[in-house]
Amino acid sequence: MKKIENRSIIGDSQLTEREATADRDSGSSERFLKLSEVYGTLQGEGSHSGLPCFFLRLAVCDIRCSWCDTPDSWTGGAWKSRAEILAMIPDNMQLVQITGGEPVLQMKRLRLLMEDLHERGKKILLETGGHRNLSEVPEFVHIIMDIKLPSSGEDGHPFEDNFPYLKATDEIKFVVQDERDFRAAVDWIERHNLDRRFQLLVSPVPGLDLKKLAAWVLETKLTMRLQVQLHKYIWGPDAKMV
Ligand code: SF4
Repeated sequence: MKKIENRSIIGDSQLTEREATADRDSGSSERFLKLSEVYGTLQGEGSHSGLPCFFLRLAVCDIRCSWCDTPDSWTGGAWKSRAEILAMIPDNMQLVQITGGEPVLQMKRLRLLMEDLHERGKKILLETGGHRNLSEVPEFVHIIMDIKLPSSGEDGHPFEDNFPYLKATDEIKFVVQDERDFRAAVDWIERHNLDRRFQLLVSPVPGLDLKKLAAWVLETKLTMRLQVQLHKYIWGPDAKMV
């Protein structure tokens, strides 16, 4: 595993609007994407769980979920060129997950990297908070989009605006801290027929009784997949970069 050195390049360590929306001409720039960390491990979540996967964690997030387990990625990070990023990804690792922070903040340039990876035969997963517009995500990318629930403190975003950009194979993830969250997830599912349109994941915040969550899922009879974070079972709840 390799950690990107955590050096701040711009004054306030945030991504400026100009940098986040730089056009395609920036493809050769030394400041192509701002990364927080990279590592290879087993995918711990969703329909690709258990498969070897290379993680590119992009720096900076513009929201603050109360239960966020990657606050180190909210600020800081280090700029890397397109060539440097491509060189980090092992040839024999077919699955690449792009996560954050909020990766969609850097979508203009991220799209170029996605095209590079696609040309190299990689399967690309994009994990996003769901609060930023997904219209520029290429068709060949597998999207895992959150719908934030009340306990996150970030449930007020118009997540439904992104439904037109999701495919039937894409995943919507609900992170559930308590019964109020679960009922809010069911409300989202029933109002928008989400269980008939997309793949659904229900993921517990650490500390929530799994038996309770399982009982709630079974009670609804809706098609949603209860998932646990496999990497935390293998390497422990506090392990980083796994
Ligand atoms: S969107 Fe992701 S990175 Fe940002 S605060 Fe929420 S959980 Fe953390």
